[in-house]
Amino acid sequence: MAYSSFHPPVRTLMGPGPSDINPRVLAAMSRPIIGHLDPAFVGMMEEMKKLLQYAFQTRNALTLPVSAPGSAGMETCFANLVEPGDKVVVCINGVFGGRMKENVERFGGIPVVVEDAWGQPVSTDKVEAALQANPDASLLAFVHAETSTGACSDVQALCELARRHDCVSIVDAVTSLGGIPLYVDEWGVDAIYSGSQKCLSCTPGLSPISIGERAIERIRRRRTRVPSWFLDLNLVMGYWMESEGRRAYHHTAPINALYALHEALVILHEEGLEASWARHRRHHEALRAGIEAMGLRFLVDAAHRLPQLNAVLVPEGVDEAAVRAALLQRYSLEIGAGLGPYAGRIWRIGLMGHAANEQNVLLCLGALEAVLAEMDAVTPGLALPAARAEYAGRVRSQAA
Ligand SMILES: *Cc1c(COP(=O)(O)O)cnc(C)c1O
Repeated sequence: MAYSSFHPPVRTLMGPGPSDINPRVLAAMSRPIIGHLDPAFVGMMEEMKKLLQYAFQTRNALTLPVSAPGSAGMETCFANLVEPGDKVVVCINGVFGGRMKENVERFGGIPVVVEDAWGQPVSTDKVEAALQANPDASLLAFVHAETSTGACSDVQALCELARRHDCVSIVDAVTSLGGIPLYVDEWGVDAIYSGSQKCLSCTPGLSPISIGERAIERIRRRRTRVPSWFLDLNLVMGYWMESEGRRAYHHTAPINALYALHEALVILHEEGLEASWARHRRHHEALRAGIEAMGLRFLVDAAHRLPQLNAVLVPEGVDEAAVRAALLQRYSLEIGAGLGPYAGRIWRIGLMGHAANEQNVLLCLGALEAVLAEMDAVTPGLALPAARAEYAGRVRSQAA
């Protein structure tokens, strides 16, 4: 058996992540490898921390990428902030809140679950009631952008509740960072984690985190050792933060992956955070216009809908998997399937980072309409004019 190099097909990625990447990011990744303690590399790490502070809108010194995917950022927060017996209010309105609960349990905490229907944002009223009923709770954990449903929760209001009830907040910003407004300092977020492959448009495998003073104080006061060696922030900091002019080897940093994240963050900084948020919104509106023109509906109300993750209800009688397979085979276009109670009932169309552009919106609408029209599920010819009209309206209102 002779093996040859792997050459992946060229796809357009409009699912729940990974998202399409700017070619500059892939080019950065192929630059020469250097040592993970090389002064040149350390200089890049210092810049990376500043770029991440910009993306998170924070001055938190403890802002760095964990060397593993978003799930590891989640686990870093829970491993360091939860001790056996700690009561944690955990909000579940989709897949990722459920994973937070599992993290609490695995680190010996006692979860107090606040549940909302899939597709709904986290209810601040229910959270307030749970905090009142559990005055001994010391942490509040929730997901900003629930990728399984496309619902956006109110970070500012929830973090304010956490503070009022003397709780430290843990926020999942894996899908929100770079795509929708997020102000870590202004909104009083204590601990937050994200992922590289969603709206940051980098390769998967890194998880930016930012930990504020209140959360650090909690870690300092731990009665027990952090049960994970790899994710123990005290050790991770030894490498990422200089102490007495020295940096300690903890693990070998994923050097070239970090070049990629650095480049992705430089691109975000060049565009500007607000401009990136506005771009996600603009292309979402055009996609929405086309989807609605086809007679399809969204799972989430307009008020709580994420622009970067569009959950579209599958029309009655349509085999959703057959549609996704046709999009992949004929248009090399990937969109996502539903999860949990919405498996088989929604498509998840991502407009994340570099993938949030007009070309992708028109490709997706045209391809989806063609496939659905062949199944006699929609009337052809309506989606693209609606999207174009939305874009034209935007252009006019900007010029006015
Ligand atoms: C994707 C995602 C994660 C997990 O990130 P991985 O990089 O897949 O480990 C966690 N939370 C949310 C909200 C996500 O969308």
